Amino acid sequence: MLSIVSTPIGNIKDISLRAMKALQNCNAIACEDTRVTGQLLKHLDIEKKPLTALHGYSHPKKIADVIRRLQQGEHIVLVSDAGTPGISDPGYALTSEAAKADIDIEVIPGASAFLTALSGSGLPMNQFVYLGFLPQKKGRQTLLHSLVDEKRTVVFYESVHRIQRTLNDIAVALASQPERPVVVARELTKMHEEFIRTAVQDLPKVAESITTKGEFVVVIGAI
Ligand code: SAM
Repeated sequence: MLSIVSTPIGNIKDISLRAMKALQNCNAIACEDTRVTGQLLKHLDIEKKPLTALHGYSHPKKIADVIRRLQQGEHIVLVSDAGTPGISDPGYALTSEAAKADIDIEVIPGASAFLTALSGSGLPMNQFVYLGFLPQKKGRQTLLHSLVDEKRTVVFYESVHRIQRTLNDIAVALASQPERPVVVARELTKMHEEFIRTAVQDLPKVAESITTKGEFVVVIGAI
């Protein structure tokens, strides 16, 4: 069986009892980075397990090897470095091959940064669009300008290196909607968790003063 297991996005206490049990009982763990998952097991006081690195650039042979082991009856857990595997993280390739091979798949849900940000944003959550990471070059401006007509809440990830540039880019792209609400969620579930509740017109000021440390999710409400 393949268990797709979400892990904490910052606060170790967000690991679930089911996740702990799967990590304890499995034969092996397919993970994004063996060092990160090794540390997680250590923090959770779970004995060492065979770890196989599976990342975005993994050779199809590596995926095929895991599928073969699953077919031989092994219980393999899939995790990423943090949050839910496959959400802007590796995981899709293994899950889709396992589904094709008719392997039993169970999901052990848990943290995901975009859902955590949406939950605390105070913006409508009945319908939303998740954009992952924005494109860096091609299509970036077109995508940002297209948000003028988006009636659903928009949520996406941003790295520490680009958060200032992105907030300024949103201010330009959505300049015709100055009061449109924006929430920048930072360091979710960690000691310095913060929700910056602002509007498009104030984004340049926020960009100037924002702490460029930590991890960020940006949520844009509808007008
Ligand atoms: N699989 C993860 C999930 O389910 O949320 C996402 C992995 S993605 C490679 C990493 C990005 O998620 C970070 O650059 C940041 O934008 C966002 N992120 C992850 N943890 C976060 C946190 N504690 N607070 C805010 N954003 C976070």
